[in-house]
Parts: sequence; structure tokens; C-alpha cells
Amino acid sequence: QSAKRLGEPYLYYSPAMNASHAARLALESELLHALDAQEFVVYYQPRVDLVSGRIVSAEALIRWRHPQRGLVFPGTFIPLAEEVGLIEPISDWVLDAVCAQQARWLQGKIDVVPVAVNLSAAQLRNGKFVQDVTDALSRHRLPAHHIEFELTESMVMNDVELAAANLQALKALGIQLSLDDFGTGHSSLAHLQRFPFDAVKIDRAFIRDVNANAGNAAIATAVIAMAHSLHLRVVAEGVETEGQLQFLRRRRCDELQGFYFSEAVPAAQFETMLVEKPLLTLGPQVDEDTLL
Ligand code: C2E
Ligand code: MG
Ligand code: MG
Ligand code: MG
Repeated sequence: QSAKRLGEPYLYYSPAMNASHAARLALESELLHALDAQEFVVYYQPRVDLVSGRIVSAEALIRWRHPQRGLVFPGTFIPLAEEVGLIEPISDWVLDAVCAQQARWLQGKIDVVPVAVNLSAAQLRNGKFVQDVTDALSRHRLPAHHIEFELTESMVMNDVELAAANLQALKALGIQLSLDDFGTGHSSLAHLQRFPFDAVKIDRAFIRDVNANAGNAAIATAVIAMAHSLHLRVVAEGVETEGQLQFLRRRRCDELQGFYFSEAVPAAQFETMLVEKPLLTLGPQVDEDTLL
């Protein structure tokens, strides 16, 4: 396979391209071995309620503990895994790892919160996906409400009917669904209506400069109001500052996820958070109406 690739003509040859091609091939073959070598690990990033200040859920984020490269983030290898057909086994591994961890915490009488797993387009296109999820839950005797899924709009666009059927079936199992990275790509109100989402996650791109960019502030405000009118919860991604927190709280955003509270941490560290229940310091509630 690699011989064929190396034999491909370089129409726009450049030394840099050749180097990056070689690097890609190296990463690809290492990725092939990563599952067997048990080099993947799940990190957990808390989601915090903007009224109580408590951790109410978490997002499972995969990391690759590479023997030479160190901790590799998903942006580096998930797109490659999708291209080379490794995304399904990796996704299956993540779901199994999260179910196993939740089951262990429950057995240990830890006060767990639901954990959200990121889906890939390949899973939603798979007619067996709902059965795979059911199997994973029963393998670990884990009730469905301890797991959530996050997906983006582009994932449901390939085969809208099959995706809708899969999502309805997951909902019927008792799994909550969030629309991830809202505001990027082909965001549409129709999707919020058509698919059985429980929550919308506003993309980090809109949160980043919400106090400096009037356009992004207007979008964030509108998304929160619109989602609420459709009875959906709203999660803000990538909250890093007190100013962003106050902006979101004034607009009645429901939950926050971001470095302001915590980055994604290994399971043992997240377990400490579940036990110690750290609170987000929220300050006095200021009503949007009393501003300006
Ligand atoms: P995502 O689902 O939108 O996840 C949120 C990303 O934002 C995570 O990056 C998280 O670490 C990062 N983040 C959270 N708070 C902050 C903040 O305050 N500031 C900044 N700068 N970043 C913040 P991460 O872990 O690198 O994951 C990137 C993407 O990789 C995820 O985006 C998701 O699309 C994908 N991904 C991660 N784990 C999995 C997985 O198990 N399966 C699949 N299919 N995709 C995954
Ligand atoms: Mg996500
Ligand atoms: Mg996201
Ligand atoms: Mg994102």
C-alpha cells in the first residue's frame, strides 16, 4: 500500500510536501498499532452548571500516549483514523472504556455524572451501531443514562434518514444527545427540530472573544435564546475567563466547559473531583435586564 503511494506522481512536488507525506505514513503505521499496544487513554473534562456551580457531567476526550511523541491530541490523529478506516475500532474502544470506568465508579460508590462520548460519522452510518451501544452497556451492566453522545451537524448530513433512525433509537434507550460545535459548518434550526437533541454546545470560536466582538456576542445570545425556546439546554465550550462566564450567566446559559474551570484530566484526577465536588465560584447573579 505504501509502495503504491510512494509511486504516485507528485504533480506539485516540494521537499516540504515529501516530508509531510513521509510523516503521515509514519503516523499511520503507528496508529495501526496503537490500539493493540493499549496506547489510547480517555481524559475527562467536567461540565459545570451555571446556577449551582457544580459538576453535572463530563466529556470523554481521547488522548494517545505515544511512546516517543508523548501525549498526542485527537486533532492530530482522529482525521487520519477516519481516512484510513480506523475510526470505528477506536470509537468502539472509547465507548467501552467509558462504560467500564463508569461501572467501576458506580461499584466503588462514587457519585458519578453522565459522561458524553464524541461520535464519528462512520458510527452513525452503521446500521449495527445501536446494537453495539446496547451490547457495550450490557457488557458493563451500565444503565443508559450514565452515557451521553455528542455529534456535529455534518455527521448527520451524509444519510439523514439512517442518522435520524439511529438517534431516535439511542434516545429510546435513554441516552442524551448533544449537538456539538454549534455555529460552525451548516448550523441550521431545522436540525435542532428534526433530531432529538437534549442540548446544544456553542462552539469555542464564538465564546473566545464574546466580550470583544459584538457579532459573536450577538450570535451567542441568539443561540441561547433560540435553544431555550426549543427546550434545549445550552453548554458553552471553551470558557477560559471570568468575563466569558459572566456574559454567559447573564444570558442564562445552562452549563460551562472550559479551562476556566478545568481542562480534561485523567480518570483518577476526575475521580477526585467527583469525590471532592469542587464548586465554581459564581459571584452575584446579575440579570441581563438590569444591565445597560
Ligand atoms: P470537541 O468535541 O469540540 O471537544 C472540545 C475540545 O475543546 C477538546 O479538545 C477540549 O480539550 C478543548 N477545550 C475545552 N475547553 C477548552 C478551553 O477552555 N480552551 C481551549 N483552547 N480548548 C478547550 P481535544 O480534546 O483536543 O479534542 C478535539 C476534538 O477531537 C474534539 O472536539 C472532538 O471532535 C474530537 N475527539 C476527541 N475525543 C474523541 C473521541 O473519543 N472520538 C471522536 N470521534 N472524536 C473525538
Ligand atoms: Mg465534543
Ligand atoms: Mg465541541
Ligand atoms: Mg470543538
